[in-house]
Amino acid sequence: MSVLRSAPLAVPVEAVSSPVEAETPLPTGPAGRDRGQRETLKLEKRLARQVGQAIGDFNMIEEGDRVMVCLSGGKDSYGLLDMLMKLKARAPVHFDLVAVNLDQKQPGFPAEVLPEYLRDLGIEHHIETQDTYSIVKAKIPEGKTTCSLCSRLRRGILYSVARRLGCNKIALGHHRDDMLQTFFLNMFFGGKLKGMPPKLTSDNGEFIVIRPLAYVAESDLIRWAEHRRFPIIPCNLCGSQENLQRKQIGDMLREWQRKHPGRIENMFTALGNVVPSHLMDPELHDFRHLKATGVPDAAGDKAFDEETFPEPVGRPFVGVPLVGA
Ligand code: SF4
Repeated sequence: MSVLRSAPLAVPVEAVSSPVEAETPLPTGPAGRDRGQRETLKLEKRLARQVGQAIGDFNMIEEGDRVMVCLSGGKDSYGLLDMLMKLKARAPVHFDLVAVNLDQKQPGFPAEVLPEYLRDLGIEHHIETQDTYSIVKAKIPEGKTTCSLCSRLRRGILYSVARRLGCNKIALGHHRDDMLQTFFLNMFFGGKLKGMPPKLTSDNGEFIVIRPLAYVAESDLIRWAEHRRFPIIPCNLCGSQENLQRKQIGDMLREWQRKHPGRIENMFTALGNVVPSHLMDPELHDFRHLKATGVPDAAGDKAFDEETFPEPVGRPFVGVPLVGA
């Protein structure tokens, strides 16, 4: 049984505030404070609803699961743990959460921050300390990118920790914008229509990996982290170069959204609304053996007519299900 019953994928437009609204600074003074509190409450409800919806839609958590929540010290993983704890408190099924941080011995890593935070939360947790930083530095020549070896080592360690802790699922803090960026990275640089799935089997076949923030906008996680005053640990301690391709894609998406509000929501919806017969992958659609059926189909493809779409009017347009805004 899923944690929350599967909700329809479409989210009512009125229940969704656009990222533009989410980034608008709140007024100060007493009236502003009231409005600020209302906005925070709305934000909390939206986060809980979107996380619950993603869990339900993809059957991410079931009765008896033991979920290892990977905590890096960044805003996304803090938000993930926060929301999963809230949902666990009211979920109709029993499951366990174990927060895990891997201390990779990067210079300047404040090793006491996460244990203190997790102790105060009173949640089961484990800090795994393994010096992958020195291994990576020793193996990769200066100036070369270190991320692929580093993440390979990290993945292996996290699997062994999950096994030791008896966890069957691993929760990661990727959000909607990460997923869209990955989709475009694969398309632009890899020539593939491939995104970042909300749920998958780990490459060693042993665990189910879930991304409960799949429907959550990054701008909402930023605001939630500010509100909750999470003790954020900087993510550049390893001194690795920023992934320039991912940054370019992020800038492109933000620019599109600024010029065409609603575009991110529509692109994200499209990831769950695929029409293989209108792409070109013969593995997904048997073009070779296509035959005339002789039966008219009102919903069938007109082939000759160009598709028409509603005019965008500065807001996400009604008629397309909005997810994760
Ligand atoms: S940014 Fe640093 S810590 Fe992260 S994967 Fe790359 S090398 Fe590892």
